[in-house]
Amino acid sequence: FTDIAHPVAVGIDCAGHGASLPLTVGRPDEWFASDGQITKSPVRAITLSALAPRPGELLWDIGAGSGSIGIEWGLAHSANRACAIEADPVRAERARANAAALGVDRLDILIGTAPDDLPSGPLPDAVFIGGGLSDALLETLWARLPRGTRLVANAVTLESEALLTRWHDQKGGSLLRIELADAAPLGRRHGWRARYPVVQWSVAL
Ligand code: SAH
Repeated sequence: FTDIAHPVAVGIDCAGHGASLPLTVGRPDEWFASDGQITKSPVRAITLSALAPRPGELLWDIGAGSGSIGIEWGLAHSANRACAIEADPVRAERARANAAALGVDRLDILIGTAPDDLPSGPLPDAVFIGGGLSDALLETLWARLPRGTRLVANAVTLESEALLTRWHDQKGGSLLRIELADAAPLGRRHGWRARYPVVQWSVAL
């Protein structure tokens, strides 16, 4: 993997000791170029665990951002495919470049707005919603996808958390609140700096 997005950030040195891409999900954020809109490594690991990729499966990654979720889905097995939907053309192009840099050529990226522009091809085995969460999107997924399709949705805002809570009441599944904190300088010592909590809903349609 010499053709990575950020050789310095991931520790390639000039003596030719290349950085090696870890095998497990939740790879360091530095492997994915982004403008900050990225599901961060520990939350990504939990998200991929909830999505539970199996060989040959197809994922829809809605609100793909940097593409990190679809890319790690693709890295999980050489037969896995993902279709990413991203409203922002600059981010979509960046996601495409990230996939190419990491050798994942089984990620299709669609520039569009969910729920209007969902992929028209084969139906997915699993769906991740990282952006564009709305009642209309969930209603569309329930109407179009077969029972048993796995769905994982992450919410950061109070509004999207409220939406997930309502849908969880109706449809069941499990709600997980992910609260993380990093040790950070506090005066001359250190304290825990909390990250925004992420609420994750996992359900089978
Ligand atoms: N999971 C991504 C981060 C998602 S950030 C990663 O790991 O990189 C949320 C993204 O959703 C943003 O890039 C935003 O442009 C996109 N988005 C928001 N509303 C959308 C919609 N209705 N349809 C498609 N994309 C949307």
